[in-house]
This record gives sequence, C-alpha cells and structure tokens, in this order.
Amino acid sequence: MFELAPYAVSSANSRGRRHQDGPALHRSEFQRDRDRIVHSTAFRRLEYKTQVFVNHEGDLFRTRLTHSLEVAQIARGVARALRLNEDLVEAISLAHDLGHTPFGHAGQDALNACMREHGGFEHNLQSLRIVDQLEERYAAFDGLNLCFETREGVVKHCSLENARKLGDLGERFLNRSQPSLEAQICNLADQIAYNNHDVDDGLRSGLISLEQLQGVSLFACHAAEVRKTYSGIDGRRLVHETIRRMINVLVCDLIETTAGNIARQKPKDLTDARSGEALVAFSHDLRDAQKEMKRFLHKHLYQHFQVLRMTSKAQRIVSDLFSAFVSDPRMLPPAYLAEGNQARRVADYIAGMTDRYAIKEHRRLFAVGEI
Ligand code: MG
Repeated sequence: MFELAPYAVSSANSRGRRHQDGPALHRSEFQRDRDRIVHSTAFRRLEYKTQVFVNHEGDLFRTRLTHSLEVAQIARGVARALRLNEDLVEAISLAHDLGHTPFGHAGQDALNACMREHGGFEHNLQSLRIVDQLEERYAAFDGLNLCFETREGVVKHCSLENARKLGDLGERFLNRSQPSLEAQICNLADQIAYNNHDVDDGLRSGLISLEQLQGVSLFACHAAEVRKTYSGIDGRRLVHETIRRMINVLVCDLIETTAGNIARQKPKDLTDARSGEALVAFSHDLRDAQKEMKRFLHKHLYQHFQVLRMTSKAQRIVSDLFSAFVSDPRMLPPAYLAEGNQARRVADYIAGMTDRYAIKEHRRLFAVGEI
C-alpha cells in the first residue's frame, strides 16, 4: 500500500467536518469530499462558465470545468510524487473555481463593485459559501459538509477583514501560517494549468501569434527544441509539443524544488509543514519565467481589444442584472428572496449563473423587443 508522508493530510489527522457524519466505509474522507463535489450542482455549472473566452466563441476553448480537471490532474501527479494526499488535492482542485461568476474575472470584478456597500464579493469566499451553505442536497445539513482541509484549500486568499469572519478557517491568514502542502500544490497547479492553456487558447483564437511568443523565453526555448528534434514541424503539433514540454518542466521543477525544501526543513508532521515559509514552490528561475509569461499574456491576450470588448459587455450584463434585482427583488426567483442582506442573495443568484444563462436573463429583463 502506498504510504503517505508523515506531514501529509490524512483521514486520521483531519480536523473533520462541521456536522457529524457517519464513517465513509470504502473510501477515505477525502475521496468522499471529492465525490460530493462531483455530484454537486455548482460543479456541473462549470461546464458553461469561462475564464477568457465566452462559451459561444468556440467549442474547443477551455471552460472552468476542463480547467478544473487539468488542475486536478497536475496536482495529483505532484501530490503522488511527494507522497501527499492525492484525494485531497483532487477534491480541492475540482472545487477551487465553484464560486466564480459568469464571464471570468470580468464578472467577478463587476459583482465585487456592485457589492461594495454590502460586504463585497470574492470568488474564493463564494466557493466556500457554496460548499458550506448553498448546495441543497442533504437532509441533515446545508452545503456539502466537507472536511476542514478541503474547505481550507478552497479559500486560496482573502482579505484580513474577511479572514476574521471565517473562524478557524481564517486563522492562518491572521497568524501568517500556511495551508496544508496539498492546498499549496493546488494553488501552483492552478497557475501551471491556466498559463499554459491560455497560451494554447490564445493561439487557437488567433489573438496572439507564435511570432509574438518567440519573445517569451519559456516558450521560445521549448519551441526551439521541438523544431530541432522535428524539422519542418509547425501548426497545432508545434504548439502542443511546446506546451506539453512547458507543463512537464514546470511540474518536474515544482516536485524537485518542493522535495528539496522538505528535505531541508524536515517537517515532522502537519503542524510543522504549516509553519514558516511555504514549502511547495518553484525554483527562482522558473518562477521568473512564469512571471514573464504572465506579463505577456496580460498585455497581449487579456488586454487584447477583442477581449476587452467582451469584458466590458460582460461587466455591463452583471451590473445591469444586479441593479435590476436589487431595485426590485420581487423579480427574483422566490428562493432568492431574503429577510436580511438581500444584495447577498442577488449576488448568489448572479454568481451561480452560467455565461449563457446570464446573457439570456439579461435579454429577458432588458430586451424591449422581447416583451
Ligand atoms: Mg483556477
């Protein structure tokens, strides 16, 4: 049997669930968490939520669902190589984007702006709200009743003000300790996944070009190696061969650098692994290379005029919906009517929408021709 490292999270050292639940008979506690996430409604919505490209722009672009699967796959490989809890990283990865609004960061920024007077909106906290409260599947409790470590992994970062409201889950932000090594892996696996797939999707969309990417060292050196090995290669195969090399080099670097940090710090247990500096890390060289890649994507893809048009439209849709529902909550589906903070329930409703549902809902409320 595969043995976990002493500083890995396990069913035995878990801080457990908020509500008493019977033992998981043929699964670990974290397999059970993963299964609950996969069966949730919020998980299925990920299929129709996007990050950079809106759903209808093409069927081959990443959605939040395929992104989450890529993150899980990368994180599992890293966890297994380091004898950490593979089931936990899978659960965290599959849940990490559940709280995202439609239209990626544009939607989140718009909703956060709308919610400024009502406590703000952070997608990490919304993911937690979904797994802790909003999913309605169990008779005995709200939410999915996940283990502490899975919930902790979902809250990648949050403001100190919000951390104070999170109780035990927020403590690490206040005392500056680290989340589990498994949660740290998911954060970096997320980075590996999105940087690489944004290059791939960016090229596929034609918004960025291979020529431009020659200026990014991480891409240029691997593309050169591919061209040297396979003379005359170009098009999709060149792109895929280059991207798979970039992913591989990042994953190997992450495993090796982390193994080196662990060997140096010698954490004895989970508490040791959580204190001090984050042990899961890239080498300096690859951290810099990734920063360069991020800067490139920011400038040439996320700020591309065609993407900005979409972003601005998405923000308008989200803020129009918000104003309409807040000014007359009676237009909301009755389940979203609230006694207290009505704006929060409006945010729940909007955040839960898929891209196409938000577009449709906007049309229902605002398209005069459709009355
Ligand atoms: Mg992500």
